[in-house]
Amino acid sequence: MNAPVAAPQPIATAETAPYWRAALAGRLEIQHCRACSRHQLYPRPFCTRCLSNEIEWVTASGRGRIYTYTVCHVAAHPAFEARVPYAIAMIELDEGVRMLAGVVDAEPDRLAIDAPVEVCFERLGEFALPMFRLASSDAATSAPGAS
Ligand SMILES: [Zn+2]
Repeated sequence: MNAPVAAPQPIATAETAPYWRAALAGRLEIQHCRACSRHQLYPRPFCTRCLSNEIEWVTASGRGRIYTYTVCHVAAHPAFEARVPYAIAMIELDEGVRMLAGVVDAEPDRLAIDAPVEVCFERLGEFALPMFRLASSDAATSAPGAS
């Protein structure tokens, strides 16, 4: 029997290291601009709205909704073959930013656009990947973002 194939690992950079450190500690962190109060993800050294470098890391609610999704019936990598079919979704966080992530603990036919989700983390080697699972609708009431 062949040894299991290792999943590809993220590559932390100076800009993304705080994101990955927080994920390892079980927190979803995103950037917040102190100058214009907008959140952003992925990490950058400046605000993409006002170009300020007054960027700080804040802990996100971890709640959001499925903006769109797809169900993969062919694994994108040999390490994911046992997961097929699996869902990949664009999640719109309550803070207004969107992120691509896997959706776990749900049969793909239970997923829907606008379904409320909450973050969870999956350990992957030296990293923890933010993933999402379906949340109960009353537990995930969407608060307006700061933008
Ligand atoms: Zn800004």
